[in-house]
Amino acid sequence: MKSRRVDRPPVDLAARALDVMPGGASHDGRQLEPIGLFVESADGARKIDSDGHSYIDFACGNGALMLGHGHKASVQAALRAIRNGFHFSAGSEAELRWAELIRSLMPAAQQVRFTSSGNEACLLALAVAHATTLKGSILTIAGHYHGWAVPALLPKLSLTDFLSTAPENADLVIVEARDIREAVEAIRSERFGAVILEPTGPSFGKVPLDPESVRRLAESAKLTRSLCIFDETITGFRVAPGGAQQLLGVTPDLIVLGKILGGGLPCGALAGRRDLLGVLDNRPGRPEDAACVYHMGTGNGNPVVASVGFATLSALADGAAIASADAAGERLRGGLNSVFAAQGIPWAAYGLSSGFHIFLNPSDRAIDPTHFDPGQIPEAELAARNQQLINDLRVALLAESVDINPWPGGLVSSAHYSPVIDEALLSFERALKNLAARYGRLSGWGGTR
Ligand code: PMP
Repeated sequence: MKSRRVDRPPVDLAARALDVMPGGASHDGRQLEPIGLFVESADGARKIDSDGHSYIDFACGNGALMLGHGHKASVQAALRAIRNGFHFSAGSEAELRWAELIRSLMPAAQQVRFTSSGNEACLLALAVAHATTLKGSILTIAGHYHGWAVPALLPKLSLTDFLSTAPENADLVIVEARDIREAVEAIRSERFGAVILEPTGPSFGKVPLDPESVRRLAESAKLTRSLCIFDETITGFRVAPGGAQQLLGVTPDLIVLGKILGGGLPCGALAGRRDLLGVLDNRPGRPEDAACVYHMGTGNGNPVVASVGFATLSALADGAAIASADAAGERLRGGLNSVFAAQGIPWAAYGLSSGFHIFLNPSDRAIDPTHFDPGQIPEAELAARNQQLINDLRVALLAESVDINPWPGGLVSSAHYSPVIDEALLSFERALKNLAARYGRLSGWGGTR
């Protein structure tokens, strides 16, 4: 297998990409200096770029590929569905089966409305919350991501400003609590139509959330007739067949889904209480004054996506593939911490289930990577990002045939078998040596370039 030569990159594609696409990519997280990655094919835990270099993939379809690339049953489902037609402008049994399976895995998903992305499903969740509670103020928690459109389109107030100055506001507005403790307090004000959160913490637990606080937040929301929206775009079908709600034993009112839902094809869904989703029932004959949200979308419930999504969720339903991916995640986190310790790098890997985050230690704390507890680190330090260092780490890893995502960290799938993880750890060893040689010191960002 060829590994990537950073001194001889596929400049041609990079130059063409920069010419025709802003930043040379369709996603901010795919923008890399000096050049991004251009992949031609993928299989299992690996992908191959346009020059034939192979990479162990820890980006895993931005979290969509829980079964690895080219999962057989999903590919077969796609081929069968494609032969039958790309788009029917109508419902299909494939779509019904998909929705019924979601409901059987997540009992809180009494009804499901499909979208084409998690981003759209987040917006739809807020629109439904607004229409059903008549309160437009949505409580969010700093750092939690709910698609790019929410911060780009909706006005945002700090909690202090909202509670002290803003009048009762029927327009949609985002009110940001600094952390979950503040959110638990704030929801008691009864001013919010809903609270939305990533139930294991921002970016799949880069700043981990204490499960008890999440339960308290959901209970307080119920008491104050605010809706509790779990954004399970990452956690859904990953941390358990029934997502974080199953893991935490919490029943959210609304659930945002995406990623694994469609097995790697573009997808999203809003699911939840039948009475709330009812505002999307716009058949003729509904009372004139009934609350309603109009919702369309050319890609919604696409039959090819539905077939692949159904095949993927069917393969995850018994929890075995999730358990394998969890074990791979644990092996990787443990192995990375041994590598950090052996090289004297005060970084640490941590994370939940099949994910990992790399703590880059901005304040140069004395830590033992093999006994790292993110709960002991201030949240601001866990959340801090040094774009240049993350870029350089990713590029150093690409040169050693590993692709991670910009948290920095990534995800594993059930196709990340132990030998693949062990091979990746050797790549990490080499990449970190090279990076350390360039930087001198890899913690305490005052020392970074
Ligand atoms: N919510 C969360 C928690 C996400 O991680 C993402 C995607 N990273 C989204 C929403 C948006 O989903 P999509 O990229 O499908 O629009």
